[in-house]
Amino acid sequence: MSSLELEQLTPAQKRALLAEHLRKRTRIPTADAASSKDEAAPRQPGDERRRSFLDGDTIALASLKDWNAQEQDPYVRYVAPYKGFLYQRLGLDKTFVRGEGCYLLDADGNRYADCIAQFGAVPFGHDPAAIWQALEIARREGVPNLVIASIPTAQGELAERLLAVAPPGLAHVVFTNSGAESIEAAIKLARCRTGRAGVLAAQDAFHGLTLAGMSATDTAFFQRGFGAPVPGFSVVPFGDLAALQAALAARPDFFASFLIEIIQGESGIHVAPSGYLGAALELCHRYGVLLVVDEVQTGLGRTGSLFACEAEGITPDILALAKALGGGLMPIGACLYTENAYSEQFDLRHGSTFAGNTLACRAALATIEELTKEDRRLVHHVAAIGDRLQQQLRQLQTEYPQLVKEIRGRGLMLGVELDLPSLAESKTGMLAMLQHEGLLLYVAVSYLLNVERIRIAPSFTHGAVLRIEPPLIADAALCDHLIGALRRLFDALQRGDAAELVGHLMGRSRSAMSPPFSVPPQPTPAAAGPRRSGRRDGARFAFIVHLLDPSSLRRFDPSLEPFNDAELQALKSRITEFIKPYPFGELAVETADGRRTEGELIALPHFPSELLALSEDEAVALVQSAVDSAVERGAEVVGLAGFSSIVTVGGLALRAREGVTVTSGNSYTSWAAVQAIEAACVKHGMSLADCTVAVVGAAGAIGHALSLLCAERAAELILIGNPDSVEPSIGRLRLVAENCKRHVASLAARGRQFAPGTFAHHWGRRPTPSADTDARITIASDIDRHLPRADVVVTATNAVLPFIYARHLRKGAMVCDVSRPFNIVPNLRDERPDLRMVDGGLVRAPETSVLGLLEEPNRRNVLLACAAETIILGLSGFRSDHLCGRLDPATIEDLGKVAARLGFSAAS
Ligand code: PLP
Repeated sequence: MSSLELEQLTPAQKRALLAEHLRKRTRIPTADAASSKDEAAPRQPGDERRRSFLDGDTIALASLKDWNAQEQDPYVRYVAPYKGFLYQRLGLDKTFVRGEGCYLLDADGNRYADCIAQFGAVPFGHDPAAIWQALEIARREGVPNLVIASIPTAQGELAERLLAVAPPGLAHVVFTNSGAESIEAAIKLARCRTGRAGVLAAQDAFHGLTLAGMSATDTAFFQRGFGAPVPGFSVVPFGDLAALQAALAARPDFFASFLIEIIQGESGIHVAPSGYLGAALELCHRYGVLLVVDEVQTGLGRTGSLFACEAEGITPDILALAKALGGGLMPIGACLYTENAYSEQFDLRHGSTFAGNTLACRAALATIEELTKEDRRLVHHVAAIGDRLQQQLRQLQTEYPQLVKEIRGRGLMLGVELDLPSLAESKTGMLAMLQHEGLLLYVAVSYLLNVERIRIAPSFTHGAVLRIEPPLIADAALCDHLIGALRRLFDALQRGDAAELVGHLMGRSRSAMSPPFSVPPQPTPAAAGPRRSGRRDGARFAFIVHLLDPSSLRRFDPSLEPFNDAELQALKSRITEFIKPYPFGELAVETADGRRTEGELIALPHFPSELLALSEDEAVALVQSAVDSAVERGAEVVGLAGFSSIVTVGGLALRAREGVTVTSGNSYTSWAAVQAIEAACVKHGMSLADCTVAVVGAAGAIGHALSLLCAERAAELILIGNPDSVEPSIGRLRLVAENCKRHVASLAARGRQFAPGTFAHHWGRRPTPSADTDARITIASDIDRHLPRADVVVTATNAVLPFIYARHLRKGAMVCDVSRPFNIVPNLRDERPDLRMVDGGLVRAPETSVLGLLEEPNRRNVLLACAAETIILGLSGFRSDHLCGRLDPATIEDLGKVAARLGFSAAS
C-alpha cells in the first residue's frame, strides 16, 4: 500500500491494518529465492515477529539514578555491566556456589534445577565424575597439554573414536575450542574446498557470534552494529526446499556451503520438517555445494540419538560439534567431514593454539565413552525421558489450551511456545503492560527461578518460547518438579495474577502471598449502551497519564492490592526504565444526541516527583514520545494529565503536529472548579459575591485562570504564590492581579453586568487604582497568615506533597482542591467536619460512557475535568489556540458551554 493510500485511511482503518500486521507476526516463509544479505535491505530490529525488550535501545547506565557501578559485584563492575544490570532488574542475578548433578546451589544452600545446562554444554550435570576422572588420570600420567608441531596422540585417539560413532562416511576431524569456531572452520573448509565464497544459511538460525557465525545468524539483534553480515552470506526460509532450490539455482556457482541446524534452538526450538535434510543434501550436491550440519547443540545425545542427523538417516559433508563434547568441564569443538570435503590447503593453513589440547581431548574421549557405554544407555534414556516430558507438556497444553500454543522438539531439547500476545490482549494491568514492553517472558523465567527454583531459558530474540534443556541425566523427579512449576506459572498467567508473578521482585516469598487473584471481567466500549441511530463519530482521543503514587499501581492492577507502598516502589524501580509510554484501556463516550468518541490512555510509569526530577529536555522528550505514540495509534486529540502538562509548560513545549490538537485540559478544569464552587455556595446558602477567595498557586496556568474567573464572582481575592521562590512568585502574582483588573474591565466595557459586592462590580465601574481596590486583592506567599482569612480556598499547585492543614482554614471554610496529588492533607475531612469540601477538578460524563481507569474510584461516570476536556474536544470538534499554555477566559467559558450541551457537568 502506498503512503498516499495509507494517508487516506481513517484512523480506525489504520488501526485495523496495524492489528492485521501484528497478527501476521508469526514465521512467514517466502517462496522467493535467498534474500542476500549483501543485496537485500537488512531486516529491521523492530521486526514484528520479535517482541522482546532486547530489541529496543539499550539504556545508558550512566543515566540511571539508582545504579552505582562501584557497588556491584566485580563481574558486573568489570566484565558485563549491562548484562549485570539486566539480571538485577529482572531478578536473575543469582550466584551459585556449587553444582550437584542437575542442580545448582546458592550460598544459602537453596537448590535450583538447571533446565538450561548451558544450552547443552553440561550433559552429565555439574560434577561429572567420569570427566573429572579422565582429567585426573591425565594429570597423574603427566602428559603434556600443549605441544604444537608434533603428533598429539590425544587428538588422533579422539578423532578415531568420534568417526567410529558418527554417521558413516565421515573421514576427517578438525578440532576447535567452541561452537562458533567449529562454524568458522566449516565455512573456511567449504570455501577452500569448493573455491566459492557464498554461504547460505536458514532464516532465524543461530551459528555463534564470531564474525562468520554471526553473519550466518539471521537476527538483527546479534548482527546490528557489528558489521555483519559480511559479504557472501544469504538466508532462505528454514525447512523450505523450494526456496533452497531457487536460491541455489539462482546462483549456481556461488555457494560453497549450505549451513543448517536440524533443530533451531535460539529461535525457539523449531524442528526441520521430516525428509528436509535428505532432500537438502541432494540439492546441495546437485549444485556442488557442501552441506554443513550444525550439531553444536543437537549433537551428542541431546535429541535422543547420538547425532540428530542419525535420525534423518543422512551424513552431511561437514558435521559441526562443540558444547557437550567437553563433558561439561572443558571447552572443545570439532568438525567431522567427508573425504570429499578434505582440502590439503585447509589442513595446512588452519589451526588454533588451544584447539585439541590434551586435556580437552581426554575430557571428550570420556564424554564419548559415557554416551556410548552399555549400548548407548544414556542416549536411550534421553529419548525415553524426553518422550515422557513431552507427554507431560502436552497434557499441560490441554489444561491451558489458550496459553500454550505449541510444544516442539526432541529428546531433551524442548520448547514450549506461549501465546503471550493473545493472553495480554485478554488481560489488563501489569501482565498486559509487561507483554507490551516485551518483558513478560523474562518475568515468567524470573518467577520460575526465584519462586519455583527452576532455571529455564527464554528464547531471547524470537517470540515467547521457554527452552527446556536439562542435563542428559535428568530424571523423572526433575521432570515432575518442572511440570508442577510450569502448571503454577500457567495458572497465574491465565488468571492474570501479576502479584503471583512479580511478588518475588518485591521480596515476597510465596508463603507470604495472598490468596490467588483473578482478573474481574472488564467493561468494554462495546458495552457502552445501545448505539443510537444517526450516530456521529467524533475525533479519536488519547489522554497522557502518569502514576500519582504507589496506589495508582494498585488501581492499574488490582492484583497488586496486598503490597505496601515500599514494595510497589521497589517493583517500579526495577521496571521503569523498560516501560515506554504504554497505551491501554479502550474508552468510549456517547452523548445523548448520538455523538460518540473513542480513545485510550497512554501511561507514563513515573511519579510526579520523578517527572520533576528529569531535566527539562528529558521531560519534554518523554511526553513528546507519548504524544507521538498516541498520534501513531490514531489520536487526533491528545490531552495531558497533571504533570505531563506541567513539565511541558501546559503543552507549549511540545512539537505541533499537523491535524492534531493537544490540550493541557486546564481550561475545563478551571471552569469545572468554579462551577462546583458556585453550586456549593448555592447549596450552603452562601453567595460568592460576599466571599474572600484564596487562590493557592495563582501564578500557575490553572491558578491564573481561576483568579480571573473568581475576580468576576467573588468579593475579595488572596493570590498565593510559591513560598520557596518568593521574589519571582510575587512578581508573577502582581501580573495576575493586573490581569484580573484588565479582565473584568474589558468584560464590563463589553456590557457584562456583575453582582454587587464583587471585585468585578467594584473595579468594573471605576477602573482606577485606589486603596480600596488594592485591599480587595492580596498578594502573598505565606499561607499560615493569609489562608485563615479566606471563606473559600481553591488550590491548584504542582506541589508533590500536601501542605494545607486544618490550622490553615477558618471555621466553615469552603475548600476546593484541584491539584493532583492533593494539596490538602488526606485526613482533613475527618478532622474538620465543619469544612465545606468541594470536589476540585472533577466532572460527571454522560451516562453511556466507558471511562476505564479514568473513572474515579466508586464514582460512576465521574472523571477529572482535564480528561473530560480531551473527550469534549473529541466529541465536539471545538478548537482554540488557547488550549495549551496561558489560558483564555473566553475560551474557558465557550468550552464550558459546549461541555454543558454535551451533557458534562461539575461533579457534586
Ligand atoms: N551453533 C549452534 C547451533 C549453537 O547453538 C551455538 C551456541 O549456542 C553455537 C553454534 C555457538 O557455540 P559457542 O557458543 O560455543 O560459540
